[in-house]
Amino acid sequence: MDNHPQFPMVKLKMLSDKKRRCPFVSPDGCTIYEDRPGACRIYPLGRAATKPDAQKGIREKFFIVNEEHCLGFKEDRDWTIREWLTNEGVDEYTTMNDQWLEIVTSQKTLGPGKDLHQKIQMFFMASYNLDKFREFIFKSRFFERFEVESGLKNKLASDDVELMKFAFNWLRFSLFGEKTIQIKNEPSPGDATNP
Ligand code: SF4
Repeated sequence: MDNHPQFPMVKLKMLSDKKRRCPFVSPDGCTIYEDRPGACRIYPLGRAATKPDAQKGIREKFFIVNEEHCLGFKEDRDWTIREWLTNEGVDEYTTMNDQWLEIVTSQKTLGPGKDLHQKIQMFFMASYNLDKFREFIFKSRFFERFEVESGLKNKLASDDVELMKFAFNWLRFSLFGEKTIQIKNEPSPGDATNP
């Protein structure tokens, strides 16, 4: 499935040397190893994920990327895919990637042109700059306008994973008009008093 045509996609710029190496690689290995992204954690596996139907979940396939420089292939130990994913701590990354995938592959329109620039800015901030997104919700009148339970609000102040999940809900609400965030004093869809 293709990405939404209106969303900007950020790519890591490789070094300009012959091998076009990753800017985080050093003679001693990865300089951001603890925080390396999901695609690096899962290597030398690859994961292809699609969402063929809006009503159904993500469909995934794994494949092996067998490259000469990967010394892991010389080891004696065999791994199942499940063992490898667990060992490398991939599951949390996959969950977040899949939630974002649902947004970037959405076929829903972003609405009239006058709001488009603002929506794209919002997409960029909530997708790629969580510190700025945290500042946006805590330094604006956000919590006066939207219903956010106090326990969650406390978590959003310091828990990046909760903040990212909230950012995805915010994008679904602000870009596509989904009921993932509730406006204050507006009856919720499950409210018995809501006709
Ligand atoms: S593990 Fe990923 S981020 Fe780290 S050096 Fe290798 S390619 Fe770069």
